[in-house]
Amino acid sequence: MKLTIHRGTNQIGGCITEIESSGYKIFIDFGEQLPGTEIKELNPIDGLTCGDISKSALFITHYHGDHIGKICDTVVDLPIYVGKTALKIFSCLESRLSYIPDPNESEKHKKIVERIKTINTFEQLQKIRIGEITVTPLLIDHSAFDAYMFIIDADNKRILHTGDFRGHGFRSKGLIPTLKSYAKNIDYIISEGSNIQRPNATIQTEQELQKDFELQFKNNKYNFVLVSSTNIDRIFALYHASKNAKRCFVCDSYQTSILKIVSENHKQFTKFYDIDFNQTRSPVGRFFDLKRQGQNPFSFDGKLKTYLEKYGFCMLIRSNDSFQPLITEYAKSIDSKVFYSLWNGYLDSKKTAFNESLYNFLKPYEIEYMHTSGHADLETLKTVFETVKPKGGIIPIHTEAPDKFQELFHEQTTIIPLHDRDVFDVK
Ligand SMILES: [Zn+2]
Ligand SMILES: [Zn+2]
Repeated sequence: MKLTIHRGTNQIGGCITEIESSGYKIFIDFGEQLPGTEIKELNPIDGLTCGDISKSALFITHYHGDHIGKICDTVVDLPIYVGKTALKIFSCLESRLSYIPDPNESEKHKKIVERIKTINTFEQLQKIRIGEITVTPLLIDHSAFDAYMFIIDADNKRILHTGDFRGHGFRSKGLIPTLKSYAKNIDYIISEGSNIQRPNATIQTEQELQKDFELQFKNNKYNFVLVSSTNIDRIFALYHASKNAKRCFVCDSYQTSILKIVSENHKQFTKFYDIDFNQTRSPVGRFFDLKRQGQNPFSFDGKLKTYLEKYGFCMLIRSNDSFQPLITEYAKSIDSKVFYSLWNGYLDSKKTAFNESLYNFLKPYEIEYMHTSGHADLETLKTVFETVKPKGGIIPIHTEAPDKFQELFHEQTTIIPLHDRDVFDVK
């Protein structure tokens, strides 16, 4: 078995892993580099972007752009595998993006929508065989829904690829039991380390964040929350926080479709994902799907306006012009608050075009930062490594500080610092 990290040994985002055994190859993740990072041009990758693909396949850990964004750059017929609900959410997101006004961007997303039609799906623990290689997906918690770690078996060797994960989300309590049950006899862990440079950061749990939002919504009548439309657990937490604070919950039809996908497919497992989209009784704590008239900005009219102004609301927003007039109208009130619930790195206005437009969008308002990371803290990484006890060691990826692995975890296990494109012989 041979292992290559084509990109991602010393950067967050755009990681590509290849595992080869007896001529069969699986690739894990094929996404964009994060905006604002130094562009690293990829050489052609045999079995992924060129050459014979009859013995290879691409597995995607989750739908964040830095893991899935380049799926149109594979050889056309390469089989791709994505989690079942994750694919539905991704498809909904990409369909919306294919209507954005910039013709280059819209063309790119239209191509992704076409490619999605050919993608295969899996569910947790469903073993998939690519010739000599078996891949087993383990469901874990991340700021993307339906995200996975993979166990790769071939040549009597076992590798655990962590993807992006964390220990402080709503579904994180399953992490260690899952690893104890399924990640036995692991030889190597390929591990993300996004938060490895923040040794002292105590990370708030999603549960704690939900409580804080609930308090805020009780204290403020008109609440606007800027949040990623695919950060599903955060959004459901906002829904519950708003309901507990007896405020109405408002979002647009695109966001409603995303929430419906999750609710329909997962409410049988937990009440957390059970939203009554059509409730007709008291407007308190009620869900409102805000429809838009053509290209006009969003507005509250008639009965909806009366309800929302009487009971107060939590409304999900995105940083585009269609939300601006509504926020501006209510931001004048002392009962109003705008919350920023995204990574604070986007607030550095000089870094990327997206950051700049976000900065301009938020400039007129006073914003409250309320967010928690989608990635594991040091304690969680340590517990994972202690639980799995890889016989060979750990290969750091998805990190800006691979050296920190050596400094922090050398007593527990061997750290194998690879460079991009090194071919590592798994013995
Ligand atoms: Zn990532
Ligand atoms: Zn991610």
